[in-house]
Amino acid sequence: MTTYTTRNDVPDNEKWNLEDIYSDITKWENDLQLVEKMAEKLKQFDGAIQDGKSLYQYLKQREELSYTFNHVYAYSMLRVDEDTREASSQSLLDRAKGLSVKVSASTSFFMPYLLGLDKETLSSYIAEEEGLKYFEEDLYESFRYKPHVLSKDQEEVLSQLGEALSAPSTTFGMINNADIKFGDVTNDAGEKVQLTRGMYSKLIEDEDRDKRREAYKAYYQPYKELKNSIASTLSAAIKNNVTMAKIRKYPSALEKALFGDMVPKEVYENLIISTKENIAHLHRYSEIRKEKLQLDEIRQYDMSVPLVKGVKQVIPYEEAYETMIKAMAPLGEEYITILMEFKNARYIDVRETPGKRSGAYNLGIYGVHPFILLNHQDDLDSLFTLAHECGHGVHSKLSSQHQPQITARYSIFVAEVASTVNEILLINYLLDNEKDLELRKHLLNHFIDQFKGTFFTQVMFAEFEKITHELTEKGIPLNVEVFNQTYEALFREYNGDTVVFDEEVKFGWSRIPHFYRPFYVYKYATGFASAIHLATKILEGDKETLHTYLTFLKSGSSDYPLELLKKTGVDLTRPEPIENAMKKFGELIEEFSKL
Ligand SMILES: [Zn+2]
Repeated sequence: MTTYTTRNDVPDNEKWNLEDIYSDITKWENDLQLVEKMAEKLKQFDGAIQDGKSLYQYLKQREELSYTFNHVYAYSMLRVDEDTREASSQSLLDRAKGLSVKVSASTSFFMPYLLGLDKETLSSYIAEEEGLKYFEEDLYESFRYKPHVLSKDQEEVLSQLGEALSAPSTTFGMINNADIKFGDVTNDAGEKVQLTRGMYSKLIEDEDRDKRREAYKAYYQPYKELKNSIASTLSAAIKNNVTMAKIRKYPSALEKALFGDMVPKEVYENLIISTKENIAHLHRYSEIRKEKLQLDEIRQYDMSVPLVKGVKQVIPYEEAYETMIKAMAPLGEEYITILMEFKNARYIDVRETPGKRSGAYNLGIYGVHPFILLNHQDDLDSLFTLAHECGHGVHSKLSSQHQPQITARYSIFVAEVASTVNEILLINYLLDNEKDLELRKHLLNHFIDQFKGTFFTQVMFAEFEKITHELTEKGIPLNVEVFNQTYEALFREYNGDTVVFDEEVKFGWSRIPHFYRPFYVYKYATGFASAIHLATKILEGDKETLHTYLTFLKSGSSDYPLELLKKTGVDLTRPEPIENAMKKFGELIEEFSKL
């Protein structure tokens, strides 16, 4: 694999080109000052919007501000991510953050003002000013929250409590990132060393079972020791959600969380019900794992090790890109042309270099183009990451091209559909073109594990959130015992009786940061199921689905997420999409067990 010790050594065509945003830093400075002036001007609208015309002028100027501000902010963020140690980049980001505070301060009057209007007044403003047509849907969308907004005094009190209310999440973050001390593991030289998260993710996949067990025990050790503190942060977070839902007059914490996407709670409930009705497939997978690993008993630390031993594929970046292009062929010429442009016009920052931000992401910038950060490792995982992030990237690109600024940005609910469709097309292509039996097994195993992680595990988490919030809504206090019992029961139900339990299993709830962002993970599962449906149809050559899918990618947030998906033939208010995904999982399991 090609490794680089400095960013300068990386060839230009494998680095993104930030000059597409600002060709030199003075232009960034100019825009920063421009945004400051615009913010000052916006402030003057406070108390001065009295008719359609002034409302329009405010919204228009706010949109212009947000366009330029996004460029200023994104540029500094991308610069920092190139090398987080670089002080000059960090100082740009600090200034952009300062600007962001000024921007919010200058526009914070608007929501209370808008929600203070009655609907008739708003409609009359819209009727008298032609320009407001463009903002109409957005205004009514904000208006939807009116029944959940309190009096001015009450809102003032709540906003002062804001920081205190987020304390459980902040505290858990401190415990989980700063204070946590994992136990010791034995390194290759036979010495005891303290486990890190990075080491854990490798060791839990180690072919040596003793190493896995040791890492597993060392990983859970601090969570067991801190169980009471973490139970208290999590129960406080849940209590806050339940209390805020009550204060803001939502029927439940779940419905408050789903309100923004306009997702009925039945969608959430159906997801869990349909998954559990078909959970036998996942139990079967636990059995297959036990067989293939030739173990007398299978435990939680045997659940991540690859079932096919010794496969190490080296896929250089150029080859990975070519493979991805071929695999996306079913999406048609328009899609492929955009993918070629990503590479040729330098949208992608490919290589890992010292100080560069870890992981991978896509950031779409309206008026410029998407930027994709990778830390490409020339292996199979990196190929999947490339296809995944390019899925987000093309979605950003198409939505920006086809939507006005106000609806160009897509919601998280639909985002993972675009990335997962690409991953499914990729796995399909690789399987079709791989003759080597061991590699085929390896590929299938990879996909099954991903299915499990992105779908089943997330549904299990979603159910855990639902149960614990409902207990709180019934006034039942949450503590270590309740969390342990709930989590263990769910783990057993999802993974089946083949799995032999260690004491650690029941502490699974204590290590999940996502639980501090309520009712969020279910979107991974619905996104995955939707993608399975779409990719299957597209691969079958269904022209209509291909057309509606491309339209979906061009739709940004021009409609509510469920409606956008419905137009592609995926109706998440019905059990079919989830059931079909389950069926697909069952087929994969069968195919794998036959190989
Ligand atoms: Zn993603």
